[in-house]
Amino acid sequence: MLHPDDFDVSEAWIDEGLPINAFGRALRRRFGGRIQRVSIDAGFTCPNVDGAVTRGGCNFCDNRSFSPSRRVRLKQVHDQLTSGIVTVRKRYDKVAGFIAYFQPATNTYAPVEQLREVYELAIGINQEPEFTDQVVGLAIGTRPDCVPESVLSLIQELADRTYVSLEYGMQTIHDEGLRWMNRAHTHADMVNAIDRSRGRGFEMCAHVILGIPGETHAMMMATAAEVGRLGFDAIKLHNLYAVRGTPLGEQVLAGEIEMMKRDDYVRTVVDFLELVPPRVVVERISGDAPPDFLIEPKWCLEKSALRLAVEAEFANRGTRQGSRYAPPKIDPANRPIPHDATPESIRSKIETRGRLPVLKMEDR
Ligand code: SF4
Repeated sequence: MLHPDDFDVSEAWIDEGLPINAFGRALRRRFGGRIQRVSIDAGFTCPNVDGAVTRGGCNFCDNRSFSPSRRVRLKQVHDQLTSGIVTVRKRYDKVAGFIAYFQPATNTYAPVEQLREVYELAIGINQEPEFTDQVVGLAIGTRPDCVPESVLSLIQELADRTYVSLEYGMQTIHDEGLRWMNRAHTHADMVNAIDRSRGRGFEMCAHVILGIPGETHAMMMATAAEVGRLGFDAIKLHNLYAVRGTPLGEQVLAGEIEMMKRDDYVRTVVDFLELVPPRVVVERISGDAPPDFLIEPKWCLEKSALRLAVEAEFANRGTRQGSRYAPPKIDPANRPIPHDATPESIRSKIETRGRLPVLKMEDR
């Protein structure tokens, strides 16, 4: 019997002879042209930094700037987006539109009405004569423990009007790895969040890290299977990399931790994607940092060569994304919706009526 995935129009990439359901091509099909993301720092902090769940942040994250008391004005958010659009337009001739990408820190962690102001500001740029219909959607990076119902309802409402991708830092399904990273959430939190997010009209993207110390190949493949089991729409794969000014960076400099070797990473990415459903859009296959900040591994700076190596590995094997995908016993669409497990320490910050020091309207 054919699985519903077999009929998915998002499998056009197979007809195009591609080895993976690549993000750029998927956006072109959806929006009819090249789409670029513009990264926005809206001034948010993170419950892993301000003490709501813990302090210090993830061991790989340079979060020194995510001070709970920092202030980014709405006008600055506006200017980041418009100047980003102008810069990209100068660099590339044919860009059909832009996705406003709320990237640094935890972008659903603020009083919900402040979140609305920021997201609406990004969409509202389409009303300005110089930028008419330029912003085709939003991408919002967050943690699985920062999406109470109030946030999901807001994002659902926005998704009625524009494309929205909610990007969850899943990283791994193994709690040992999450503890090693100091994530301060469990995989059960991820399952709770995704089971409450599904079917609301926005895309759900999983951010996954490969090469976590102590994780075997089989453990990483179990994370791959979970992407299909939970019904994610998109995935971002990152190699673990160390940057200056982080606990991980210090450990790598001290020789205590080794990063994955390039060949091993290439094979692991291909093994991983063979298990991921064909309909899932692959937004990234590696991660990197500016050369001045990156400690290890240096090979991730050669992004094009890495992509070609992954494609060559697929070609050598005669496989593609989803070649070994086994549909889960329960269709993700039929998974029960659980109670909202957002920790009270986080919910109280999001559902407060006051304002955090960030994003004061009067600063516009
Ligand atoms: S949850 Fe995200 S923003 Fe917060 S410390 Fe970890 S990586 Fe950084």
